[in-house]
Amino acid sequence: MKLEKAYAEDIKLNITAEEADRQFSAGVVKSKFSFQCPDEHCSAPVTCANLERPKDKRKRDPYYKVVGEHSPNCDIAKDIEKQKKRTNSKTDIYSDSDEYIDNAIRLNLQPPSTKRPEPAGDKQGDSDSGVKARRGNAEESGKRKIQRSKTLSSLIDAFLAHESHTIQLPEIGVINIRDFFVEINGQDLSELEDEFRIYYGKAWFNKKENGYSIVFDKTLTSAGITKRPSIYMPLDKLVESGFKRFKVNELERLADKKPKTVFILSQAGPQLRNGYINIWCDGPEYLDYRL
Ligand SMILES: [Zn+2]
Repeated sequence: MKLEKAYAEDIKLNITAEEADRQFSAGVVKSKFSFQCPDEHCSAPVTCANLERPKDKRKRDPYYKVVGEHSPNCDIAKDIEKQKKRTNSKTDIYSDSDEYIDNAIRLNLQPPSTKRPEPAGDKQGDSDSGVKARRGNAEESGKRKIQRSKTLSSLIDAFLAHESHTIQLPEIGVINIRDFFVEINGQDLSELEDEFRIYYGKAWFNKKENGYSIVFDKTLTSAGITKRPSIYMPLDKLVESGFKRFKVNELERLADKKPKTVFILSQAGPQLRNGYINIWCDGPEYLDYRL
């Protein structure tokens, strides 16, 4: 669900992304990071993606993306939850406005345990994995074209195997797999795109009181602040997922002080807040690692 308005910290008002764009041009709104959830009982951080990008370099107008936890009594979060349940859209990042593109691969973020309410032939998981794909033969038997998809995990395997693929991103169009993966390596945040990318690098899992933090080895910089970026995943979010890689005993094993290569799919990119640089993780389906 799109956030129509967000609370702009610099002017203490709830405004649309269009208004944020005007206020940023006028120098009133200072940063794409200075927004919050518009609910008066909530201060979940919001990024106004593309706000700082010059107009002629934007592939998409500025939009709001919630990049943190809502407060438990946030009414907007409750509405979003209701809508997700109704539309089953929690893990489908595409919409009807994303047209079929020949030979492009979509991201499949479905947990392995859920069934898709789709016509026969549209399988979960990696739809071009040899035998399974041939048996389904979706393209020929289906009434509509069904685009190939890959899970995050199989996309990572393809990237590591130097395969060449074209990826379809929601609302943006296609991107080469090499450009879709961004290694965390000292960049300034202004160099990074405000659209879906997979950020990766050497990182450590650390056990926290109610979850796990992941801290990268290399740094990122923004506004003169250089930090090693981190991800936080609350335990309740992890265990409710259908991903075996995030079961409790698996996580215990990961927090062993040995570095892993961590991959995170992020829409709005790393953010600078309160002097820290972090990457918001929407859920376990956005996260994977290699030992
Ligand atoms: Zn909220």
